[in-house]
Amino acid sequence: MGRSSKDKRDIYYRLAKEEGWRARSAFKLLQLDEEFCLFKGVQRAVDLCAAPGSWSQVLSRKLKKDDEKGTDVKIVAVDLQAMAPLPGVTQIQGDITKLSTAHEIIRHFEGHPADLVVCDGAPDVTGLHDVDEYIQAQLLLAALNITTHVLKTGGTFVAKIFRGKDITLLYSQLKIFFPSVTCAKPRSSRNSSIEAFVVCQGYSPPEGYVPNMSNPLLDHSYDVDFNQLEGPNRVIVPFLACGDLSAYDSDMTYPLQLDPNKAYQYLPPTQPPISPPYQQACHLRKNNLLSKEGLTSSCADEPKPSTKP
Ligand code: SAM
Repeated sequence: MGRSSKDKRDIYYRLAKEEGWRARSAFKLLQLDEEFCLFKGVQRAVDLCAAPGSWSQVLSRKLKKDDEKGTDVKIVAVDLQAMAPLPGVTQIQGDITKLSTAHEIIRHFEGHPADLVVCDGAPDVTGLHDVDEYIQAQLLLAALNITTHVLKTGGTFVAKIFRGKDITLLYSQLKIFFPSVTCAKPRSSRNSSIEAFVVCQGYSPPEGYVPNMSNPLLDHSYDVDFNQLEGPNRVIVPFLACGDLSAYDSDMTYPLQLDPNKAYQYLPPTQPPISPPYQQACHLRKNNLLSKEGLTSSCADEPKPSTKP
């Protein structure tokens, strides 16, 4: 496969490079904003699970544009992985499941709460759908927990979800904290993927709620089968496709020459990963060290490549 094949297969991958976004996910946040005006009046924003940083880029470009002096806007990006620096974005290399990360965010905002928290978090996908959905749901709960520490009353929380069979449980939990919860599917998110985004507006925790980092599912304090929720406990969340309907369809293949007057030109990624998990495997392959023999004879001191795909 040539370098242009991904450009051909994935129009948003290609547009991301043309417009200087670090990842195609930038379009998801842009299309969510088109529908929900997420950035209106936002001065403090948190990007959870931010690497390589395309959502932080969107926040920075959009919020700084609306802030005339560009000085009052504060953006904090958190990820387990290191991220190449972005002007105007404070980075925390940390875990969103940790209370210390919440404290660090608040410190950056000098004690003020955030207007907007976004989370595009995803664990490493195993390919086992049930496991992936479960882990994604755990990550979303972690994101919700940390959000309850840092978000202002009335604020907005946007997070990636996998719409699996237990999604009703997540909706129910979100509805405890937000009067308005919508499930949105941007045009740039493939139809073939169960990925979608919850847009939760008007943060209003139950009276007396004390933010904490506990996780009812992991703590085993729930023994209810949430698929059997009935009546008012079964929450129906509106589902919305968003992004201009004339926007590119992420499941379509487009010709490489979109503009007949311009020749196709391959562009390298805007920001190559700085320490990708596959780096060592590439190194071993390049140096012909992937065979067992090679590993035992000349590569004994190299850590073994991860077995993850
Ligand atoms: N929104 C990003 C962008 O536009 O560039 C892409 C995010 S990527 C799909 C998912 C990220 O979630 C990964 O960088 C991963 O390191 C991060 N992540 C997963 N679990 C995390 C955790 N517990 N704490 C912090 N980051 C986490």
